[in-house]
Amino acid sequence: MTEKELRSLLARYGLRTSKSLGQNFLIGDEIPGFVADSAGLTKQTHVLEIGPGTGAMTRFLCERAGFVTAVELDAKLTAALTETLAGAGNIEIIRGDILKTNLAELMSRGYGDLRVCANLPYNITSPVLAMLFASRLFASITVMVQREVALRLAAKPGTPDYGSFTLLTRYNADVSLLRDVPPTAFLPPPQVTSTVIRLDTHAPPDCVRDEKLFFRTVRASFAQRRKTLANALSAGFTELSKPEIEAAIAECGLPPLVRGETLSLEAFAGLADRLSARLG
Ligand code: SAM
Repeated sequence: MTEKELRSLLARYGLRTSKSLGQNFLIGDEIPGFVADSAGLTKQTHVLEIGPGTGAMTRFLCERAGFVTAVELDAKLTAALTETLAGAGNIEIIRGDILKTNLAELMSRGYGDLRVCANLPYNITSPVLAMLFASRLFASITVMVQREVALRLAAKPGTPDYGSFTLLTRYNADVSLLRDVPPTAFLPPPQVTSTVIRLDTHAPPDCVRDEKLFFRTVRASFAQRRKTLANALSAGFTELSKPEIEAAIAECGLPPLVRGETLSLEAFAGLADRLSARLG
């Protein structure tokens, strides 16, 4: 859809874009086509699109996938979306909040290959990704996010962008940053550059023996980034004494003044094991 066509569609249905719903609609076919092409869709794929908007990407998904389920919160877009998708027989549009949706039920049409494609509403990127990971349903998640979020997801240990969300992502998926998209590709243009990313999900890493304790360790370590790991963990594990925590850190071969932000996923897994031994 060209900018002119998109503007005319919005005008015909009396639609105004909503900032609170993260409505930055894609202009042109290049980016929606790129996202759909990057997602590994086949006719055996059932793809979930979050926030189809006026359907810029949905058309491409219908062409490439076996079936498309599109969940859109803004009921006012339904008529425009129906116009854009006229003729596509392999789509269901669900009006609702993706964060309140039962994904297993939604994706139970019998397809063996489940994937996600979306130009995500920016304000709910983190909870949506956490929900998609937790569902363990999807082989890949190909989405547009703000560039700063993409950098956080793909960050290396010891860099300012590295944090708990990086580790949650790494725990669940391999991350590829595919391409940047400038604000001019959207109507209205957002303030910042966006990035198309693909997350290829995998089973939890073998080195993590206790998922709950692993993430408790990660969260505690990053809760106070400026503190040493020993101090941050002391605040997060009040049932352990400081010497016990220091001993656990030393057993991992880490220096006493190490900061949590320098630890890899494997190092956090090892540390969680040592803490576990002391928690009894
Ligand atoms: N896919 C369209 C495109 O690329 O032009 C629209 C993308 S726009 C960035 C995000 C879309 O998500 C909007 O249509 C918005 O109404 C919808 N949305 C926002 N919050 C939502 C939620 N909680 N559940 C489902 N859709 C939501």
